[in-house]
Amino acid sequence: MKKLNYCVDCKRIARFDGECSYCQSQKIKDLTRKAPVNVIGTKIKGRVLNVKDQMVEILYIDENKNTFVKPFEAQQLQKVL
Ligand SMILES: [Zn+2]
Repeated sequence: MKKLNYCVDCKRIARFDGECSYCQSQKIKDLTRKAPVNVIGTKIKGRVLNVKDQMVEILYIDENKNTFVKPFEAQQLQKVL
């Protein structure tokens, strides 16, 4: 899987080149498989299944206990610490 990164300070996810393009922090880490993320502006919280270019496949369980696998754009996501 090609690596995306996340920013430790603002939690945004993208492919950063040593510096966060949202908050200019240099605390950048790799986004790994199974990392917990949430979809910004929603209650969806899940885990990273796979990454393809700027799309991140998320596994999540809704309030009715249904399991979903759905791709989201990296810019819609935030890392959960
Ligand atoms: Zn940042």
